[in-house]
Amino acid sequence: MELKKAMLELMRRATTDLSKDVEDAVKQAYDREGEGTPAKNVFGTIIENIGLAREASTPICQDTGSVIIYVDFPVGDSEKKYREAAEWAAAEATKLQYLRPNAVDPVTCKNSGNNIGTNAPYLHFHQWDKDEVRVRLMLKGGGSENVGAQYKLPDTGLKAGRDLKGVKKVVIDAVQKAQGQGCAPGVIGIGIGGDRVTSFALSKEQFFRKLGEQSTDPDLAALEKELYEDLNKLGIGPMGFGGKTTCLGVYAGKQHRHPATFYVSISYTCWAYRRKQMIIKGSEVTYD
Ligand code: SF4
Repeated sequence: MELKKAMLELMRRATTDLSKDVEDAVKQAYDREGEGTPAKNVFGTIIENIGLAREASTPICQDTGSVIIYVDFPVGDSEKKYREAAEWAAAEATKLQYLRPNAVDPVTCKNSGNNIGTNAPYLHFHQWDKDEVRVRLMLKGGGSENVGAQYKLPDTGLKAGRDLKGVKKVVIDAVQKAQGQGCAPGVIGIGIGGDRVTSFALSKEQFFRKLGEQSTDPDLAALEKELYEDLNKLGIGPMGFGGKTTCLGVYAGKQHRHPATFYVSISYTCWAYRRKQMIIKGSEVTYD
């Protein structure tokens, strides 16, 4: 398939067809709630919405998010063609109403109308040794982006020191402050270490992991498990209506930091957790 069309199909799938791991997690959350509770009703509506969007090939949410693309490509390949394909597909997807025009110039406040602008779509390139291309797409909702947060440890107000206990405290603080905003239940991506920029980038990259996948680092795996349990005891529930599920997953990554800094960045994504990938090998394209 032509690259541009393959990219468009990736966008269509991401915005209309919620991945099975996320849908399953929402269904399990529905099963946990008591009959007649607001939480059960909200989950019921979300499940119905997921099915209707898939059936009619229409966006799962009116906010189709910011277009974020990670490309892994073999040695000798050109970045330019992927950038061109991404821009063409974003404009076409906007025309076809798979995407809402979501690229606004922050100074003039003018919407470009086609999701193309400076760093829109946002593309990140990585060269690898494989003879195939992997394109990963995330459609990141604005409401959930607004409740992300960055902390600098130690944080005396929260009594959070420079260790994983401190990390835990600031993550709980961020989710508590969000309450139901950002369309809970969400998925929490945590970036530990790095500088302010790379810490946030690492937190967002966690969203490409599958729900239920544990960190390969035993300390981080334990942190993810503990946080998942603790956050779901907060009682915030879907959309803040109260309930047993406040988050669907917690994912943490770490990277080396400067001795004088200890950043913890928390990215939050809503239940409309839209990410898909495609693998291009020769003329064959597969989607997941
Ligand atoms: S936060 Fe997510 S579910 Fe809520 S409006 Fe934005 S994209 Fe939609």
